[in-house]
Amino acid sequence: MYLETLHLRSFRNYTDQRVTFSAQKTILVGNNAQGKSNALEAVELLATLKSHRTSRDRDLVRRDAESGQIRATVARSNGSLELAMTLRGKGRRTLAIEGEVLRRHLDFLGALNAVEFSSLDLDLVRGAPEYRRHWLDALLVQIEPIYAYILQEYVRVVRQRNALLKSIRKSLGDGGDATTVPRSDWDQLALWDAQLAAGGSRVMRRRDRVLQRLIPLAQRWHDRIGGGTEHLSVIYAPNVECDRDDPAGVRAAILEKIKERRLAEQHLGTSVVGPHRDEIDLQIDDTPARAYGSQGQQRTLVLALKLAELELIEAVIGEPPLLLLDDVLAELDPMRQNQLLDAIQDRFQTLITTTHVDTFDAQWLSASQVLVVEAGR
Ligand code: ATP
Ligand code: MG
Repeated sequence: MYLETLHLRSFRNYTDQRVTFSAQKTILVGNNAQGKSNALEAVELLATLKSHRTSRDRDLVRRDAESGQIRATVARSNGSLELAMTLRGKGRRTLAIEGEVLRRHLDFLGALNAVEFSSLDLDLVRGAPEYRRHWLDALLVQIEPIYAYILQEYVRVVRQRNALLKSIRKSLGDGGDATTVPRSDWDQLALWDAQLAAGGSRVMRRRDRVLQRLIPLAQRWHDRIGGGTEHLSVIYAPNVECDRDDPAGVRAAILEKIKERRLAEQHLGTSVVGPHRDEIDLQIDDTPARAYGSQGQQRTLVLALKLAELELIEAVIGEPPLLLLDDVLAELDPMRQNQLLDAIQDRFQTLITTTHVDTFDAQWLSASQVLVVEAGR
């Protein structure tokens, strides 16, 4: 797929700027705080409905405006699509494809696919488990948009179940006397248990499946970029251990663990069992990359995961997704830079931000469209 045009109105520090992409590679160059990352963020929003920098639409709307808009034309193998996202300082955003406003926002997903890679992605290795879960979930949404519903539903169940557990904890008081809890609460909890097991099983099985496909790709990239001297392991460590090929078995295992942790859950007033507590272990030579990896090793690992993601999305949807590289090149050593640029070649449309173009060799520069970004223009 190919992003042909991008039009930003009252988005971040842009007032009204239209861009036509004229090459497979576009380099956005400029000083700090000029709007390079903002432009990539706009594309990320169209692809994922999320920004990795903020979860509030009002941050995205230009400070002096009430609403802002991102419009784009995307050419795909089966025709081109006009996308529009209107963001509001107050109120819900509006999404439209081909001028038609969507009732369900999740139907927007899949119109544009992109993988973003920025220095913040080091959190994938260094950060808490939730970064890795979010990363995996975001990938799943791109290759299987229905997963967005599955996850949303699961999160809703966990939230409601947590509210009930809190209320039970209150009724139990210090004495912990189960008879002080209304009977209806226990009945309700049993219903939530079943729903958590059903939804949790759907989430776990999909996470497992996508990792099975992603891991060999990531290992291959890791060997290639890192020279093959170290071994990468990506291990799904679900909160509930079980045979993931058997849906009924997964549900039963979740219910069993809920039973075991019943007292802990009532004491804490929160759900401690289920895929919202999953971990994905990243290891280099069988040692946790978080604690052991050097900066360069951690970057190599993230790069391998991102390239694997690109390849997997391409394989599943049958079209190459966009690659958004925000400030990452300067942080890689020349060998890794070359491996990355080599891997991209003309395979993926790529938008790259940089503060100076001398990071790129002459050949790359001459094959790229260079946009100078200055104060939101
Ligand atoms: P760097 O090289 O430092 O990464 P950049 O060019 O990527 O810089 P961006 O993050 O794209 O910079 O843009 C940051 C600029 O956008 C800042 O000046 C910031 O104040 C401005 N900005 C961010 N949000 C808004 C907003 N809602 N309204 C107006 N300006 C905003
Ligand atoms: Mg930036």
